[in-house]
Amino acid sequence: MAAGELEIQAAVARSSAEPFVTEKLYLKAPAANEIRVKIVATSVCHTDLMTKGEALCEFPIVLGHEGAGVVDALGDEVTEFDVGDHVVLSYDYCGRCRQCKNHKPSYCDNHGSLNFAGTRANGDKTHRSPDSDAADVFGSFFQQSSFATYALSNTSNTIKVDKSLPLPLLAPLGCGVQTGAGTVLNTLQVQPDTSIVVFGCGCVGLSAIMAAKVAGAKNIVAVDVNPARLQMALDLGASHALAPGDFAEPGSIVEHVKSISQGNGCQYAIDTTGAPSILRQAFDCCGPLGVTAMIAPGVPGTEVSIEMLGLLPGKSLRGVIQGDSVSKTFIPKLIELWQDGRFPFDRMLTKFASIDSIEDVAQAMGRGEVIKPVVILDPEFD
Ligand SMILES: [Zn+2]
Ligand SMILES: [Zn+2]
Repeated sequence: MAAGELEIQAAVARSSAEPFVTEKLYLKAPAANEIRVKIVATSVCHTDLMTKGEALCEFPIVLGHEGAGVVDALGDEVTEFDVGDHVVLSYDYCGRCRQCKNHKPSYCDNHGSLNFAGTRANGDKTHRSPDSDAADVFGSFFQQSSFATYALSNTSNTIKVDKSLPLPLLAPLGCGVQTGAGTVLNTLQVQPDTSIVVFGCGCVGLSAIMAAKVAGAKNIVAVDVNPARLQMALDLGASHALAPGDFAEPGSIVEHVKSISQGNGCQYAIDTTGAPSILRQAFDCCGPLGVTAMIAPGVPGTEVSIEMLGLLPGKSLRGVIQGDSVSKTFIPKLIELWQDGRFPFDRMLTKFASIDSIEDVAQAMGRGEVIKPVVILDPEFD
């Protein structure tokens, strides 16, 4: 083992078709601005599965970008964290570009390279197979790669949380939950007594529904094909739950949503599905000055068609990354709402045990059986 390396267990993806397999790897020592985190729990997001399934990354790679854990070691220049701190990991950003300086770090000029390149910002790989002399496995996914017993994060994407909080529950806050809630509270800034429709009731959609309730929206319309998810949407704050199968043609669901929102259309719509036809329906549900938020862009190259006349009455279509969240302030805010009983995101979670279950989790997600799986790596914290 080279100086400073740590032996870890990681769920490695060796190609898009092969399953996640637990392997022994060596993780480099933290660089000057890095934090090594002993991962207590990691949740799995559709972005992990799509990145692997569509081969949007280099292989082999350690994915995972919703980690929570305990600070285990610090780079020489890290001053704001101590070993033993409890932390949640989120997406990374450069802190220097125009968007970062304007407090919109999710639109960082370096978002792609920092979160998806599979390397540190300087291009270095951080993970090594036992039979290789140099780092040969891509990691640094969202500057964390949390499908592992230990991860390296940066000070920028590491959020300190109180030690009294249940760490495993907090893992999904770093991406899925803040994306849905942030789209409502930060991007759309949903106002009281308004109407909002949410297409897709996975973790992101349900988080948006809970946040719309917090914001005081009057009509919160949930749309999904899965009856169990529609029931969950109603339990978490939706005022109406619609199954597309109950409508004869796509246009009639739009008319129904409009009738719920005083016939004029919603002020806000969110599409979490990534399907162009659904995004179009979401857009059509909005009335004059309505804003449609697109969260899932489908695979690269996917296009949507919008009638230009439909756009004319002040309507807009807005892409959203990470719910415009500044994680260091937004995640503590979500935790506070949860403690007040106003944001019960823990009801979406299903726990799995051990790093070996990542492939089972991926399969269960593919079948739509779980909304937000959380894999517990350290049973002491369960
Ligand atoms: Zn930036
Ligand atoms: Zn994610």
